[in-house]
Amino acid sequence: MTVTPDTPLTEFPGVGDVRAKKLDKLGLSTAADLLTYYPRDYEDRRQMYTVRDAPLEGRVCVAAMAAEHPRKARIRKGLELVQLKVVDHTGALHLTFFNQGYVEKALRAGEEYIFFGTVEEQGRRRTMVNPIFERVGKQSFTGCIMPIYRLTAGISNHLLASLTRQALDCAHTVPETLPPSVRREHSLAELEFSLRNIHFPENEEALDLARKRLTFEELFYLAVGLDFLKRRRESGGPGCAVPTRPFREFQALLPFTPTQAQRRAMDEAAFDMASGRPMNRLVQGDVGSGKTAVAAYAAWLAVKGGYQAALMAPTEVLAEQHYRSLSALLSPAGVRVGLLTGAIPPTEKKKVRKALADGDIDFVIGTHALISDGVAFHRLALIVADEQHRFGVAQRAALAGKSEFGGMPAPHVLVMSATPIPRTLALIIYGDLDVSVIDQLPPGRTPVETYVIREDKRQRMYNFVQKQVSQSRQVYIVCPAVEENPDAALPGEESPSLNLKAVTTYAAKLQTEVFPALRVGVLHGKMRPKEKDAVMAAFSAGEIQVLVATTVIEVGVDVPNASLMVIENADRFGLSQLHQLRGRVGRGRHQSYCVLVTSTRNPDAMQRLRTLASTTDGFKISEEDLKLRGPGDFFGNRQHGLPQMKLADLAGDMRLLSQAQEAARRLLEEDPSLARPENRPVWDRVRQLFADTPDIFN
Ligand code: ADP
Ligand code: MG
Repeated sequence: MTVTPDTPLTEFPGVGDVRAKKLDKLGLSTAADLLTYYPRDYEDRRQMYTVRDAPLEGRVCVAAMAAEHPRKARIRKGLELVQLKVVDHTGALHLTFFNQGYVEKALRAGEEYIFFGTVEEQGRRRTMVNPIFERVGKQSFTGCIMPIYRLTAGISNHLLASLTRQALDCAHTVPETLPPSVRREHSLAELEFSLRNIHFPENEEALDLARKRLTFEELFYLAVGLDFLKRRRESGGPGCAVPTRPFREFQALLPFTPTQAQRRAMDEAAFDMASGRPMNRLVQGDVGSGKTAVAAYAAWLAVKGGYQAALMAPTEVLAEQHYRSLSALLSPAGVRVGLLTGAIPPTEKKKVRKALADGDIDFVIGTHALISDGVAFHRLALIVADEQHRFGVAQRAALAGKSEFGGMPAPHVLVMSATPIPRTLALIIYGDLDVSVIDQLPPGRTPVETYVIREDKRQRMYNFVQKQVSQSRQVYIVCPAVEENPDAALPGEESPSLNLKAVTTYAAKLQTEVFPALRVGVLHGKMRPKEKDAVMAAFSAGEIQVLVATTVIEVGVDVPNASLMVIENADRFGLSQLHQLRGRVGRGRHQSYCVLVTSTRNPDAMQRLRTLASTTDGFKISEEDLKLRGPGDFFGNRQHGLPQMKLADLAGDMRLLSQAQEAARRLLEEDPSLARPENRPVWDRVRQLFADTPDIFN
C-alpha cells in the first residue's frame, strides 16, 4: 500500500467498517488525521534487560530466545493458554499468553525476540503474562520511546501506534506551511522530522524539538488568525467619530465617584471612540469592580454624540436588570433606553424594533438575540457585550460585520469580562482586542467572609440566615442547576435518589419547615422569562428575603442589600464559578458572607473550597483553578469560540506563545492580506483552523 495523506483508514490493513467507525469517533478518518493525532504521553521502552536483571516493577523489555515450541492448551470453553520458556545467558523466563492462540505459530523455537511486559516472580520462577513481542532487528514497538494515545473502546494503543507507523510513510509528502523565514528565525525543526518524532521520538532531544515546532505552529496559526481579524477591523474603514465630553457632565449623573481604575477604562474607551477608528476593547475587571459604569459612560458618549448604542447581556435576567439600572441612570440625561429580549410580547417587540430603526430609542439593552435577529438600527455606533466569556471570537467577528447598519461605519465594540482568566489564556482568547483592566474595587468594600461547612452545621447555617434577614439583609441560597445534576440529592438529604427538580421542592421545604416566617422565592433556568423577571424584581425590591436559585444568578445580578450567599453542594462547582457566585454579595456597605456547604470526601474538592475561602482575588483563584483542572477545562467548553488546541499547553507555553504572536505580527505587517503566493499556505491553514467558527474570514 502506498500511503498518501488522503488515504482513508479503511484502506489500512486490519481496519474494517467496525474499527473505522470507532476511529472516526476519535476524529480519525485519513492518514493525515493520524499524523496530527498527537500522543498524550510516552512510555520509554528503550532500556533492555536480561532475565535476571529485569526489575519486578512496571513494564520492561527483555531480550531472550524461545527455548521451545509454544504449547497450546484449552483449559475450558473461552479460555485458551499458550505457554513457553524463553532464555538468555542469565536464566529462564516463563511466558503465558491468554486467549492469543496465534502466538503458537508466531513464536519459533531458537529465534530471538524482545518481550515487553511485567516480570513477576513466583518462588524462584520468573514469569511474564501476555507480553508484546517482536523479532530482534524487526522492532517497531519495543526498544523505543512508545507513544501513548487517547483511546476509545475497541481501539487499542497498539493498533493506533501501528496505524500511525504506517501513516508516517507519507510524512515527507505533507506540505510544509510554515514560512521558511519563521522557521529559521525560531530554529524550528522540519515538518517531516517533527511528525516522525512527535509519534516515535528517537530520543528526548528529538521529542523536544518536534514538540516545540508543532506547538509553535499551532499557536502561530491561531495568532495569525486573531491578528488578522484585528487588523481587518482596524483597517476596515472608519468608525464613528464620537466626540469626547467633559467628564463632570457624566459625573453629575453618577451616585458615586468612579475609582481611578474605572476612570482609566472610561478614558481609554472615550479615546478609542473619538479616534475615528472602530474601537475593539475588552474591559476586564473582577466581580463588583464596577464595569457597568464604564459601559454606561461609553453609551452616554455615543448617544450625546448623536448616535445609538446597544448592550447585550448573556441572560434575560441580566438584560432586565441592566435595563432598570441604566435607564434610571441615563434617563435624567435625556437618553431614551429600550429593552429587547425574547420575553417581550411580540407587539411590544415590534414597537421597539421600529423605534430603533427610526432612531426613537437611543440605547437598547437585550440579549444576543439583538445581533442574531438582524435588528435594524438608525445610527448605531456602539455595541457593548457584557460578561464576555459567553461571547466567543465568532460572535465578536459577527458584531464587527454589522458595519452595514444603515450605511454606517463599523460600530465600536466594548466587551466586559468578569472572568479573571490567567494572562496566558487572555492573550489568546482576547488576542484580537485591546484591553483595559479594572484592578481596583470601589472603596468601602469589606471583603466577603467565606466559610466551608459540613452537613452537621446546617442548623447553625439556617440560624445565620434568620439573623441576616432579621437585620433587614437578604440571602441567596444556590443549588446546583436542575438540569446539571438529575441524580443529585436535595441539600441536607442523605439519599441521592431524590432528584434536583428539587430546587423548587427545596425552596418549598425551606419555606414551610425552616423559615415559615420569612418570604422565600425561587429562581431557576427552566422558568419562563416573565416569571424570572418577576422574581428578580421582587428580590431587588426586598419583597423576597431568601432567594433559592440555580446558577442563573451567576452573572452580574446586583442587589447590594444581599449580604449572605449560601452555596449548597459547593464541591460540584468549579472555582471560578464559585467566585462568580460569591461576587453577588459584598456589593453594598454591609459585611457580607459566603457559606460553602459540602459533604465531599474528595481532598481535591476540599482544597478547592479552602482556596476560595482564603482569598477574594479573582486572578489568584483562576490561576489556582487552572492548576487544579488544567487548561482543558477552560478550553473544553468552547465558550470562547476558539479552535481546539492539540498540543499547546496554554498554561505553560507562555514564551512560545509570545514568540508565535510576534512572528504572526511580523508576517502580517509584511503581507497584511496574506496575498503573496508564498503565504497562501498560511492563509489556508488559518481558514482551516477557524473552520468551526464560520463567517470569520469571509
Ligand atoms: P461588575 O463589574 O461586577 O459589573 P457593577 O458594575 O455591577 O460591577 O458594580 C457593582 C456595584 O458597585 C454596583 O452596585 C455599583 O453601583 C457599585 N459601584 C460601581 N462603581 C462604584 C464606585 N466607584 N463607588 C461606589 N460604588 C460603585
Ligand atoms: Mg456586571
